[in-house]
Amino acid sequence: MVRFMTETPDLPSEGERSPGGHETPVPKAVVARLSLYSRELQHLIHEGLETTNSSQLGKRLGVTDAQVRKDLAYFGQFGYPGIGYRCSELAEQIRRILGTSELWSVALIGVGNLGHALLRYRGFAKQGFRIDAAFDIAPQLIGTRIEGLEVLPMSSLREAVQRGVRLAILTVPASAAQHVAEQVAEAGIVGVLNFAPVTLSLPDHVAVAGVDLAIELEQLAFAVVNRGPKG
Ligand code: NAD
Repeated sequence: MVRFMTETPDLPSEGERSPGGHETPVPKAVVARLSLYSRELQHLIHEGLETTNSSQLGKRLGVTDAQVRKDLAYFGQFGYPGIGYRCSELAEQIRRILGTSELWSVALIGVGNLGHALLRYRGFAKQGFRIDAAFDIAPQLIGTRIEGLEVLPMSSLREAVQRGVRLAILTVPASAAQHVAEQVAEAGIVGVLNFAPVTLSLPDHVAVAGVDLAIELEQLAFAVVNRGPKG
């Protein structure tokens, strides 16, 4: 069982919890921070560091060392007394928790402005995601190639799933997003990353995440407007 800890030792005691055996859902904020820890660990590895600790990791991300320990303690025991965390080992453990230690095959639906940009970005593969298929309904796009990837008609979605595509990125107009989301769910896609500015309604077995820079900018504007006077 996952329980909330009042004390946050670097090394939780044996049997505190087991990865994947959660009875209480892990808060979203904790999972979001795991991604940040993972990214920061990649930077540390790139800088040639073999080990780190909760204090260093926390400082680089603007969170307390106690928060780092508490977050990791949801998933098991990490680190070594007197050493801290081995960067590569912790990075791999976090990838396993996040499900990104294996490559995910992704479809992109809607090869317009944003879709083109995402197809051209090469960084996703390093994070465990490879865009393997691109779809659109525009006849002038179907059959063309972007970054070596042929744009396919929506009728080929099911074949892509049979080839191993499991996630879909939606970069279609808002007016089409719900319908497209239903199409990808019916084809067997298990997770949807939605860029269209609408809330999707899909069966529970399909995970949905949304990205909306306008909302992020709104939050930023709010933070700027409500910033206290600087000392
Ligand atoms: P766009 O018009 O350039 O591209 C949309 C593409 O989707 C076109 O190629 C179109 O043919 C295709 N399409 C339309 N209906 C479809 C359907 N039913 N099935 C498959 N493909 C279909 O638009 P864009 O500028 O690339 O924006 C795409 C989406 O991303 C929009 O919803 C936009 O609001 C959103 N957007 C989000 C963010 C963000 O921060 N999340 C930023 C920019 C744009």
